[in-house]
Amino acid sequence: MPDVLVAGGGPTGLLTAFELERAGLDVLVLERDARPTTQSKALALQPRSIEVLHERGLLAAVEAHAEARVPAGHFSGIPIDYADLPTRFPYQLGVEQAYVAAAIEARLRLPVLRDAAVTAVEQDGEGVTVTAGGRRHRAGWLVAADGGHSTVRRLLGAAFPGTSARISLVVADLTLARKPAGLADDWQLPSGGSGFLLPLSGGRYRAVVGGEEQQRLGRDAPVTADEMQRGLTDAHGPGIEVGEVLWASRFGDAARQLERYRHGRVLFAGDAAHIHLPVGGQGLNLGLQDAVNLGWKLAAQVRGHAADGLLDSYHDERHPIAARVLLSTRAQGVLGVPIPDAAAVREIVTGLLAVPEARRAVAFELSGIGITYPGIVGRAADVPVAPDGRAVLVGASPPVGWAGRVEARDGTEPRLIRPDGYVAWAGGPGLDAALRRWCGPSSAN
Ligand SMILES: Cc1cc2nc3c(=O)[nH]c(=O)nc-3n(C[C@H](O)[C@H](O)[C@H](O)COP(=O)(O)OP(=O)(O)OC[C@H]3O[C@@H](n4cnc5c(N)ncnc54)[C@H](O)[C@@H]3O)c2cc1C
Repeated sequence: MPDVLVAGGGPTGLLTAFELERAGLDVLVLERDARPTTQSKALALQPRSIEVLHERGLLAAVEAHAEARVPAGHFSGIPIDYADLPTRFPYQLGVEQAYVAAAIEARLRLPVLRDAAVTAVEQDGEGVTVTAGGRRHRAGWLVAADGGHSTVRRLLGAAFPGTSARISLVVADLTLARKPAGLADDWQLPSGGSGFLLPLSGGRYRAVVGGEEQQRLGRDAPVTADEMQRGLTDAHGPGIEVGEVLWASRFGDAARQLERYRHGRVLFAGDAAHIHLPVGGQGLNLGLQDAVNLGWKLAAQVRGHAADGLLDSYHDERHPIAARVLLSTRAQGVLGVPIPDAAAVREIVTGLLAVPEARRAVAFELSGIGITYPGIVGRAADVPVAPDGRAVLVGASPPVGWAGRVEARDGTEPRLIRPDGYVAWAGGPGLDAALRRWCGPSSAN
């Protein structure tokens, strides 16, 4: 019997499984699809996610498929320079989401169980029983990472408040039989706005349209080459000719977030926990950060050395971060509405974002470099994470008698670094309390 079941083998579920395995747990990922997807909603990794992948030895396999390094993010299409961010990766990595997922999956110990759509979940005092692909699986815990339309969320009746979609857009990867004059051949800052067109490898283009026609069509209407032709002609003029539509999907600006990320023995992460307009390249990155926050805490809980409240700190820390992204993406959505007053607001915001302090604050937020949690000193991207998911104590000795899960390392700057790379103590009093809070009672190892 695995220690943990994960519903959904998207990037969030896979990285959660990776983190749990790193800490020595047996994890079974249950995935609805029969084969790994080659379709990528996200095209951009933010700097903090790049750091996280690098720290875990996953970056090289992702970078091998990168289309570009873009030294900026954007706020509803307004460029936000990343050059002075305090990271060795001050850029967005342009890479298709499917390669991120594949790189993580390739490093899992247990293969993902495919053709295994979750259809029922029951939990009791000792564990969770999940029916997937017609078979029953049992484990102590379930991580629900089954995406924006989460079945687990529905089965548990979990409250998912927020706003419904008011606008509808189409994302498509397609070929062009004729390119419009002046279309750049290299990677530009992906803004995702209507009429957006970005060259991908293999002669493909990523297109987004969201005009009047998309508002009229139903959410389930098939996307045709004719529809894409009309949308792109509106944006680029008659010089463009769509060839073949390789895949397409409709999306909107619904913004919803679970009230609670933990429901007994079920923990939600990624799009299953929060959805929003995909502007600014945030959703995939949020999911990856959920995974690295949850993984070590759940592992400690399973192994019986978690301090009281450690697992619940996952909700406490991550819920406000996603709430802020929902706020930001809702604001960005308003700036994109095609009415004159929105253009006026955009002009004002563009001016404000030229002020260095304002630009820097938004750059910290979009890049994930500014993520912090109550009581946390900062992040420690310079210290390699422990391979087994332990906390790392640098330049200090644990108190006499301490035998908890911490790896001691030499160094001049004393710090206690949580397994997710955040600094829980940095010299002075409080080491004992920080060790007990984050690494559990000293008697358990
Ligand atoms: C047009 C568009 C562009 C985007 N661009 C970006 C970007 O540039 N940067 C960024 O950070 N984010 C972007 N996003 C958002 C990003 O794609 C998502 O946030 C990301 O996919 C979330 O990952 P996830 O693993 O949580 O969910 P998903 O990727 O949705 O994965 C969920 C998995 O669960 C599986 N599943 C579903 N139901 C079940 C079930 N019942 N049982 C078992 N398995 C199930 C699915 O098959 C899937 O594999 C974009 C989104 C869109 C729509």
